[in-house]
Amino acid sequence: MKFNRLRLSGFKSFVDPTDLIIEPGLTGVVGPNGCGKSNLLEALRWVMGENSFKNMRGTGMEDVIFAGTAGRPARNHAEVTLIIDNADRSAPAAYNDCETIEVSRKIEREQGSTYRINGREVRARDVQLLFADASTGAHSPALVRQGQIAQLISSKPINRRRILEEAAGITGLYTRRHEAELRLKAAETNLTRLDDVVAQLE
Ligand code: ATP
Repeated sequence: MKFNRLRLSGFKSFVDPTDLIIEPGLTGVVGPNGCGKSNLLEALRWVMGENSFKNMRGTGMEDVIFAGTAGRPARNHAEVTLIIDNADRSAPAAYNDCETIEVSRKIEREQGSTYRINGREVRARDVQLLFADASTGAHSPALVRQGQIAQLISSKPINRRRILEEAAGITGLYTRRHEAELRLKAAETNLTRLDDVVAQLE
């Protein structure tokens, strides 16, 4: 999966619309402390469906919205769009007819997040599955946060196993299994209710 472009608007320190073109090869982001390098990586994770505000270094998900400075008022919404080049059809098969895939996430104060894939509104889960099926996503080990290596060295084996599972591309299967188990449980509850009704009628 090749990321072509990252567009940010009102996201953390990126108050003005900003277009980051990701050229082939290695991309380096350099700049003084506090200029927003980590915010760029966070924008990438956020648009891929990150749902932990702690992982975004915030106390609530709305903390990703530009909070204002002495000279500029705060914004009411933030939006990040990721444009994926699918010319090599490396995205999951459901997107085989798309040359490019545009994934966007928008958050408005007190309204929560909305997600779109190629302009069509979708669930957070659809976006997370799109990336999980391509062995990437907000929790991909390819995105290394500051302090993450030290955290990994001291983490439990089960957490290290998640990295191997992510690389093997089976994270999406776990999500699907969980959804199937929930549906099975709901069906079992309905069957029990039905048994009660049948017993009352007999
Ligand atoms: P370092 O090199 O020290 O790791 P960095 O370049 O990675 O720094 P970031 O951590 O990405 O910098 O950016 C921090 C900056 O983002 C701070 O100036 C902070 O005030 C600003 N910032 C974070 N959240 C918001 C927000 N919601 N609104 C406005 N500015 C924000």
